[in-house]
Amino acid sequence: MRQGIVERIKRNLYSLKRAKEKGNKVGKLSFKSEIRSIPLKQYGITYKISGDRNRVKIQGIKKKFRVLGLHQLPKECEIANGLLVKKPSGYYLYITCYLPKEEVLKEIKRKQTKQIVGIDLGIKHQLTLSTGEKISWYIPETERLKRLQRELARKVKGSRNYHRTKHKLQKEWEYIQNKRRDIQNKVISYLKSFSLIAIQDDSIKGWHEGLFGKQVQNTGIGGITARLKRLATLIPVVFVGRYEPTTQVCSFCGHRQEVRLSERMFKCQKCGRDIDRDVNSARNILKVAMKRLADPVKSALPVDCGEVTPVEWAVAHDEAGSPSLK
Ligand SMILES: [Zn+2]
Repeated sequence: MRQGIVERIKRNLYSLKRAKEKGNKVGKLSFKSEIRSIPLKQYGITYKISGDRNRVKIQGIKKKFRVLGLHQLPKECEIANGLLVKKPSGYYLYITCYLPKEEVLKEIKRKQTKQIVGIDLGIKHQLTLSTGEKISWYIPETERLKRLQRELARKVKGSRNYHRTKHKLQKEWEYIQNKRRDIQNKVISYLKSFSLIAIQDDSIKGWHEGLFGKQVQNTGIGGITARLKRLATLIPVVFVGRYEPTTQVCSFCGHRQEVRLSERMFKCQKCGRDIDRDVNSARNILKVAMKRLADPVKSALPVDCGEVTPVEWAVAHDEAGSPSLK
């Protein structure tokens, strides 16, 4: 385990070095009194799941841990490395496991009951689909979080009470994050039922910094695009450029006209059809994607599922929830 930690520090140093070479600003390394996660490499040696699947033995610790949720592991999977994580609410074990790719794809195919879809990202409705469906959610910071923040500010830094409040605050934060992630999971799982997804490669970061900062943050929509990028290794996801005109074009006849931000409906001056502004945009995104797929020169993006390597899986797992140690 120590070896794993050392390797991780080496890896981090190496990526810092690369970031520096690229010209990014790189700070100094600072001392950390504790680490929040321990890599458990080599299943069967550093950690082992009991036969009845409710306990885990970790090397160096005599007592077996009772672990909830181990039943979620698929029966026929190959268990690889794990990660023991300390979160404000307790200890968690992340387990990477491998399934035969054919079976994963078969399962995805089975769930693909719907056709292609275009997605428009927005502020009021986070996702508008070309089918006309609108998906919106909003998970603001809780009152409790705000109260704890005020409380913490009054405490003497470093005191016992300070740490106690800080821990409560971190726990509350984790709770809000979990809620946001839960919605993301549900949205992604729904989107998986489409056989092709087209989405605008929007700069969420730009929104973040601008007018809509808090609102965007409170929905975790940024996570959705990141998740879709990973999903692209399994089902076709086409990212449409940011500068492609999608809101100002009629999705029925292709007529282009000026559209003000306040107009919620797109009223075509040529063919006379009325359509919800966001649905129109989503339909156009899908159209652009389909046009690009039909043109092999322009379709630089992978159309088919591509190869999913264990490394990609591992990265996906890593990004999914482990706290960053950088
Ligand atoms: Zn029209």
